[in-house]
Amino acid sequence: MFLVANWKMNMTRSLIDGYLDVLAGRPMSGLLERKRLSVALAAPHIYLDYVNREVHRRKLPVQIVAQDVSTRTSGAFTGEVGVPNLLDIGIKGSLIGHSERRRFFRETDEDVVAKTGLCLNGGVVPIICFGESRPDRENGVTLETLRSQLEPVCEEIVRAREEGIYTPFYLAYEPVWAIGSGVNAGLSDIQEVVTFVCEAFPWPDPPNCLYGGSVGLENIRELASSEFLSGFLVGSSWLDPNGLLNSAELLPQTERTAQEGVRFK
Ligand code: PEP
Repeated sequence: MFLVANWKMNMTRSLIDGYLDVLAGRPMSGLLERKRLSVALAAPHIYLDYVNREVHRRKLPVQIVAQDVSTRTSGAFTGEVGVPNLLDIGIKGSLIGHSERRRFFRETDEDVVAKTGLCLNGGVVPIICFGESRPDRENGVTLETLRSQLEPVCEEIVRAREEGIYTPFYLAYEPVWAIGSGVNAGLSDIQEVVTFVCEAFPWPDPPNCLYGGSVGLENIRELASSEFLSGFLVGSSWLDPNGLLNSAELLPQTERTAQEGVRFK
């Protein structure tokens, strides 16, 4: 399974040091190997290089990913960070289309597609977030919303594969109403969505689907029992490194790796 901690706009260098010290103080490699887990930390852009260096210095078995990337490659786009910038400091993955980007920064489905394409082309693994809002769910239009978010993403991935680009990708189902709310989606809702996503679009390779939205120690074991999930994207409860490690401890031992993912007919 693939575990991604989304730090959002949190952390300082001293908090990062403390976080990594906690990870280094526990026998992490053995735990990850035993449970077949990969871990990534999604750090704010300004700390990516620092966290990456510190992780290497401590020989921690975690990857560092960005929380977002620009729709542009380079040029006069003040404040933006492009795929080449990430690659320049050794960052090989990025969240794309997190609901907070869509909601607070008006990121559109078109932006998400553009970012996905640039990541795939550049060899940066996109972790593409999607999910319905509460009104979508209440109005019974969840699957329509997911279709409009993911259909063009799938087309972009097909385009990349046709051009001989094989950068892996992840999908992260994050119902907007579940993020930071303390209420997670139920297993049957997750199963319905993941099955829909896998069957409704012509993915060139079977998607690995993560779930995010109020995951914590109290529910991760039950959520992990779903054979439809390849991992978790977690905000609040993994801002504490012990939350991340204790969650990992609760996960069942599995033969499945995030890379293998779940195959759907
Ligand atoms: C997120 O930010 O992607 C997230 C799932 O947050 P939380 O775990 O706090 O709901």
